[in-house]
Amino acid sequence: MTPAPLDEGYIKYQCDWQRAEPVALVQIAALNACRQRLYALGLIGMYDNGIGFGNLSQRCGDSSQFLISGTQTGHLPTLTAEHYTTVTAFDLDANWLACRGPIQASSESLTHATLYAIAPTIQAIIHVHHRALWEHLRDRVPTTAHDCPYGTPEMAHEMQRLYRDSDLPQSRLLVMAGHAEGMISFGETLAAAEATLQQVRTAFLARI
Ligand SMILES: [Zn+2]
Repeated sequence: MTPAPLDEGYIKYQCDWQRAEPVALVQIAALNACRQRLYALGLIGMYDNGIGFGNLSQRCGDSSQFLISGTQTGHLPTLTAEHYTTVTAFDLDANWLACRGPIQASSESLTHATLYAIAPTIQAIIHVHHRALWEHLRDRVPTTAHDCPYGTPEMAHEMQRLYRDSDLPQSRLLVMAGHAEGMISFGETLAAAEATLQQVRTAFLARI
């Protein structure tokens, strides 16, 4: 299969996409319910220029594969199983991944893959955008380098560094300084990843 280059990242990453049937609805039920709540809060959504943002994923059992929302789905108010795909393999340094499903994986899938590869205890990852929260949390919580764009091997190394050298394993929340408005939370369950994000958001809203 010919890899399909995507134009969304700083460096074009290679995505080997194997078209396949969607997974059973029950497999995306929790992810989709969580995504619905995040969309309602504007943490996943669409900019005025029509570009969607935000995505979330869940590890498939104890494998290295994970289910993730598809590319260019951030703008959609509701998703179905047709909008989720399974990342089946990845190579961070080669900026390459393979996915299987009815839609290509989000261009930010390698960022998710990086965290899944770091710690087997990470079961779910949420990536959202929020200007004010991002500005508030930047450099207060583990933050990737300002000159490090998302979707690159450099970002993968940067997150590995944070996981090793900062309190990221405890905070389970990071800010991507080089990816405007971008933040990531993760957890041992999807509920825990969502709770971490909601806690910082609630605390932030309480102080303004
Ligand atoms: Zn993003």
